Amino acid sequence: MSAGAGAVIPPAATPPAATRPAATPPEATAPNPTAPSDDDALLAGQAAARPDMTRDDDVPVGEEWHSPLYAMACRQFARAADVLSLDDEARTRLLEPRRSLVANFPVRMDSGDVVNFTGYRVQHTLTMGPTKGGLRFAPDLGFGECAALAMWMTWKCSLVGLPFGGAKGGVRCDPYSLSVGELERITRRYATELLPVIGPDVDIPAPDMGTGEREMAWFYDTYSQSVGYAVPAVVTGKPVALGGTVGRQTATGLGVVFAIESAFEDLGWSIEDRQFIVQGFGNVGSVVAHELHARGAKVLAVSDIRGAIANSHGLDIPAVMQWVAEHQYLEGFPEAEAVDGAAMLELPCDVLVPAAREEQITGANASALQCGLIVEAANGPTTTAADRILEDRGIVVYPDVFVNAGGVIVSYFEWVQSHQKYNWEATEVRERLRMQMQQACLRVTGTSEQLKTDLRTAALASAISHVAEAAHLRAIYP
Ligand code: NAD
Repeated sequence: MSAGAGAVIPPAATPPAATRPAATPPEATAPNPTAPSDDDALLAGQAAARPDMTRDDDVPVGEEWHSPLYAMACRQFARAADVLSLDDEARTRLLEPRRSLVANFPVRMDSGDVVNFTGYRVQHTLTMGPTKGGLRFAPDLGFGECAALAMWMTWKCSLVGLPFGGAKGGVRCDPYSLSVGELERITRRYATELLPVIGPDVDIPAPDMGTGEREMAWFYDTYSQSVGYAVPAVVTGKPVALGGTVGRQTATGLGVVFAIESAFEDLGWSIEDRQFIVQGFGNVGSVVAHELHARGAKVLAVSDIRGAIANSHGLDIPAVMQWVAEHQYLEGFPEAEAVDGAAMLELPCDVLVPAAREEQITGANASALQCGLIVEAANGPTTTAADRILEDRGIVVYPDVFVNAGGVIVSYFEWVQSHQKYNWEATEVRERLRMQMQQACLRVTGTSEQLKTDLRTAALASAISHVAEAAHLRAIYP
């Protein structure tokens, strides 16, 4: 059956044996020089996803979002679409972003100079309701990265049953080298540039890398000034004093740990018997490490942009958090050994949690990993070439669109509260989050069993089939 009209995939109770990790982590294998490079896979995958693309078409006409990350998102889409036998019409409608905005805008710096900044907003699909997605402030941010992240947001929202399409945006800047005043002027001007495409029922931003509550407060105020009254539902992740929800700041990390608990329940593993490594010690990674430590797990190593720290007896995570609060970076933490950040990924452990950024587990290091499971807290941390190597090695990957969905789930709770002008209790937020993560885990593992495919493809297939069905029912306008 063609899945263009929406293939309904019912959940099943247990994952197939093929998706279960070995009881002990596999030993590292020697790198395979004949393994497909990410570039090879990129061209093959794009050609499969886009019938108008050929291997000779490096950057085909209309491929405004071209970037390695967007190509990776397209390859993942193509694989799931193939498993679903999705028809060409659905592929055409779902692959490329529906609406994109690029703005180049001047900002006066503290020095008195004027600097141009580039801001982006990409809305992947308008089929499911308003769009939703984070704002990233990063020095290397590009259009293609936003397009990939927007597409993943669509699948994430669909997988966990939220009434949103995906979006992503941000400003190309280094937030750590800017003053608070400069950041405020950048955020307010960027928000103003976005006015034609955002709104509480149009597109609702949230924090992502390099942004937080403070930027959301400025964004909320700028939008509200433009319409003349307070519109708290225009952003999520804002301070509680402005109508933000309790529990949003820790939601993504807590959701990751609920995902781990659900996966472990299936596998018959218990958290306190297991050893973890967490890459990235920011908003997401620090909460993951803290919650795991609080549950009795051994967190052997954690890293940030400057390097890693490790302790074979397990790190004292509350002490590490205190150290970072005082010193900003992990380096110098006394009760641990300093380790190279890339080498940390290859240390033996039960579970590796990439929680930093995209493309960290690649064709170059996947053969050397010595973990049993990978739980993707970051967006897009594993390349397609790495996925194939890990699959061959029996290392199971719990995919980002499932694992880090806690952030957007609690953002949805905040949006509902902002619309209703009614605040929920912390326990209600936490328990609803736990329930949605458990249900999503069942959906992913059940689909994997039904379609006899890996967990990433299963998660995407489940999400894509739902959006494809909605697109089919709404038909084409006019
Ligand atoms: P953050 O900026 O708060 O923290 C990022 C951390 O990663 C920092 O500790 C940084 O030093 C570290 N880092 C950066 N590059 C690194 C590298 N090469 N090696 C090791 N560490 C490195 O960002 P965040 O909000 O924690 O987001 C992390 C990831 O989670 C991103 O992929 C983001 O898109 C994803 N995510 C975040 C949320 C959220 O609610 N914040 C929600 C869903 C997904």
